[in-house]
Amino acid sequence: MSSTLLSPLTESPAKPDSLPHWIDGKRTPDSGARSAAVYNPATGKIRTMVPLASAEQVGAAVASAKAAFPEWSAQPPLRRARALFRFRELFEARLDDIARLITAEHGKVFSDAKGEATRGLEVVEFATGIPQLLKGEFSEQVGVGIDSWSMRQPLGVVAGITPFNFPAMVPMWMFPIALACGNTFVLKPSERDPSVSLLLAELLKEAGLPDGVFNVVHGDKTAVDALLDHPDVKAVTFVGSTPIAEYVYRRGTDAGKRVQALGGAKNHMVVMPDADLDQAADALVGAAYGSAGERCMAISVAVAVGDKTADALIGRLRARIDTLVVGDGMNPKAEMGPLVTGAHLDRVTGYVSLGVEEGAELIVNGREAALPAGDGFFIGPCLFDHVQPHMRLYKEEIFGPVLCVVRTTHFDEALGLINDHEYGNGTAIFTRDGDTARAFANGVQAGMVGVNVPIPVPMAFHSFGGWKRSLFGDHAVHGPEGVRFYTRIKTVTARWPTGIRAGVDTVMPTHG
Ligand code: NAD
Repeated sequence: MSSTLLSPLTESPAKPDSLPHWIDGKRTPDSGARSAAVYNPATGKIRTMVPLASAEQVGAAVASAKAAFPEWSAQPPLRRARALFRFRELFEARLDDIARLITAEHGKVFSDAKGEATRGLEVVEFATGIPQLLKGEFSEQVGVGIDSWSMRQPLGVVAGITPFNFPAMVPMWMFPIALACGNTFVLKPSERDPSVSLLLAELLKEAGLPDGVFNVVHGDKTAVDALLDHPDVKAVTFVGSTPIAEYVYRRGTDAGKRVQALGGAKNHMVVMPDADLDQAADALVGAAYGSAGERCMAISVAVAVGDKTADALIGRLRARIDTLVVGDGMNPKAEMGPLVTGAHLDRVTGYVSLGVEEGAELIVNGREAALPAGDGFFIGPCLFDHVQPHMRLYKEEIFGPVLCVVRTTHFDEALGLINDHEYGNGTAIFTRDGDTARAFANGVQAGMVGVNVPIPVPMAFHSFGGWKRSLFGDHAVHGPEGVRFYTRIKTVTARWPTGIRAGVDTVMPTHG
């Protein structure tokens, strides 16, 4: 089966086409009236339209997934793994197409889009080990003649609700493991860059996935609420902003579902006076401005320990920012693309103005950077110094290319700053001192910690998740936590009365 999704789309056609949903193994046009525009952020033009599903449309996807569950869950895990092996090959063969599609709707540079897709693929690779991962525990002779063992069984229909910033990778944190465990899946991708999810669905079908095992339903709050309320959806994985994550967690758990909801972030990187400042500056520029700061693991706060460190760091950051190329993500020279939408650009620009009003020192003003001509949603890198913890600029997630430098006098103050922040997703320290690094890793209140690594995203065979208001629920995603989330444990205790091995008994049986 070949995909037509990647055929060139005319931008801003008089009447742009609307994407289909993917229900029961096929493209399914939306029956409703609501839709939204999907932009190419580099041109600012409408690329396509995305339908916004009604509760009935969501119900059709859930019904398809429910019907597919008995057969799919009864497959030996090895067969489910083999479908994922085939998907892996197909995905890799289409890596460039997938990355192009990500760049066309998200805006990130092509090489970064390939990186995202590759990180998603690693979760598929992890999930192909499902026969090993589902092995339970066994205890012989827990009582006389009694054995006990545990097994992990799938939940049923599970849903994934995903954000715009990783349109391939974040869904792939979820469905490879959910499917490998024997669940069937309904994905509600971000309405801002929805096309890649349809390509994933097509590739899964080509890999041999039975119809109904994986469905895509596009939409907004209406579709999300329908999934959260649907009695046949047994679990929900959400990734997005904190207010919505909290809402999804509460509404989903109220409806009796298992929910993991990953939220926003304000990731700090501590730079100690003994750090290699060139390395730290390189790391900060990549981590703050890569993907235009639209990463949940982006570093948005650099915590310099000591004024000397801060001054030296800022000099190095300025020099690097000056040479950073902002442009269309398909331009191989571009290092940073546009923001995802015009509305998001306005929001980020608003935070830059707010920071100035609040009294932070705007060292590099990305609003005045040399930017590509046209209507793309571009802003250059922004750098603030003397940011204070009481400022909204510091407290709130901006999700754009805005790096704040906070000056502290010693390590404990830097650590306290991170621990007092409402978010606790990722964090990092740059130092040459092992003792400081160890104290940081042990004492910091965050879910993912880097030591001389600015973006410590765990590999697929570990689990990804923040602390505090960066994650609602008990499980992180992928790795062993993903397997736990998508399965229920069942423990069997078995005793067999004396059986055939006792031989022939010619005496009249009595019971007592
Ligand atoms: P978002 O919260 O706006 O949207 C996420 C999903 O929720 C989308 O599918 C959207 O359709 C849906 N949604 C939006 N408003 C809703 C509402 N009122 N009710 C129900 N559903 C709603 O997030 P976004 O802007 O797409 O993504 C950026 C955010 O995601 C940032 O806050 C970022 O930190 C976060 N994020 C977190 C992680 C993580 O691992 N913690 C990873 C990626 C992104």
